[in-house]
Amino acid sequence: MHKVVVLGARFGGSATAYWLHKLFPARELEVTVVDQWTTMTYRPALVTAAAGHPALADQWHIAMKQRCEKAGQHFVRDTIMRIDPHQQQVHLASRAPLSYDTLFIATGTDPGWKTIPGLGAERGGVCEDYLARQSGDRLHRARSIVLAVGPLAQAPDDTPRLAGSLDAPAFEISFLTDAWLRQQNQRQNVKLTIITPASVPGEAFGPKNQALLARFLAQRHIDLITQAQYHHVEHDAIHLVGHLAVQADVMIWIPPYHGSELLRVSQLDDGYGWFPADPFCVHEKWPNIYGVGDISRTALPKLGHIAMMQARTAVHHFYALRHHGTPKPFNPYVLHVVWMGRGQGLLTLSNWLYGKGHEWAHPGVSSALAKSLFDYSYKLFSGWMPIMP
Ligand SMILES: Cc1cc2nc3c(=O)[nH]c(=O)nc-3n(C[C@H](O)[C@H](O)[C@H](O)COP(=O)(O)OP(=O)(O)OC[C@H]3O[C@@H](n4cnc5c(N)ncnc54)[C@H](O)[C@@H]3O)c2cc1C
Repeated sequence: MHKVVVLGARFGGSATAYWLHKLFPARELEVTVVDQWTTMTYRPALVTAAAGHPALADQWHIAMKQRCEKAGQHFVRDTIMRIDPHQQQVHLASRAPLSYDTLFIATGTDPGWKTIPGLGAERGGVCEDYLARQSGDRLHRARSIVLAVGPLAQAPDDTPRLAGSLDAPAFEISFLTDAWLRQQNQRQNVKLTIITPASVPGEAFGPKNQALLARFLAQRHIDLITQAQYHHVEHDAIHLVGHLAVQADVMIWIPPYHGSELLRVSQLDDGYGWFPADPFCVHEKWPNIYGVGDISRTALPKLGHIAMMQARTAVHHFYALRHHGTPKPFNPYVLHVVWMGRGQGLLTLSNWLYGKGHEWAHPGVSSALAKSLFDYSYKLFSGWMPIMP
């Protein structure tokens, strides 16, 4: 049987495993999924935990090992140390190397905590469950809260270009925290500030969404500092180039994204830590290696929805190769809902970032309901939903 190994079991890896199961007869492939965790932390829900509800962080773990094994796939819990594309092997921390015929890499980007002097996970974050829980707990004692978006370190010639790692969660946390403080009649006592390297809020969404976000931030008295260049960070302040320090009792970082250490040590990156993918998510040098999700230089913005669409593109390409079909290239668009608090959401459907000029924005209760529906379906079906993007 053809050996397929999938590295990573969150949005990208899980959707890859789904499509391998859906498209191929069981006898054709032997599929092994590898992750350091048997459960997936569902990141979109972590913003609610960070916005003053730390206990929620524990409610969003999804049993990926169980999901894959139920479908007849193998699941290996281990740390991936290195990939050897010449020998077609994946080196693991605590067992013998895994051989593959075809490899899908969906291990995401590493947080670049050390890329800004004084910054570290201990300053506060939201991207993992323990960080969201700590942030949600600290908010209860804060008088000044800063949501800081790190830079995205793309290769110099990559297009399209984005300045920030991922700004949407910072807006969500600020809106949700604003609503939570108002409920307790505490809003007037707390200063909320967002700092981003981008020149506008919602830089990947398009001008309509950007104008709406700017308006909502102003209405809720949330300060926005754009085009930030970080100089250094102290325990109670963020120092920006050309600015005075921004004081913070609590800071919550979406850290800098600077690619993948695993790709670097395996010499599979583009020189900047990213997976060099062609339009079908295939590695530019190794035709039997696919890259899916945040790790890929073509996954812009770095969203779970984009990772799921790339998984679809990659596995359909692999299927087309083996079954003499015609594969379709990755055709990205942004589908996202920003939690706005007070039961509202801002739904964005846009391909503006890719120069195609379509952009739709819908603020309201129905957008928040759509996001809840997606989140709960994802949890209920362990990521293998009846309708997949
Ligand atoms: C706070 C927050 C909120 C978000 N909200 C949204 C949202 O509302 N909508 C949306 O579309 N996107 C959202 N995103 C973005 C989304 O979460 C990411 O784009 C998505 O998780 C990327 O998926 P991935 O599979 O590419 O990588 P990852 O999610 O990074 O998953 C990588 C997996 O690989 C495993 N792994 C990595 N290295 C190793 C190793 N060496 N050994 C073993 N295992 C390893 C990890 O354990 C992990 O399970 C949000 C992100 C954050 C941080």
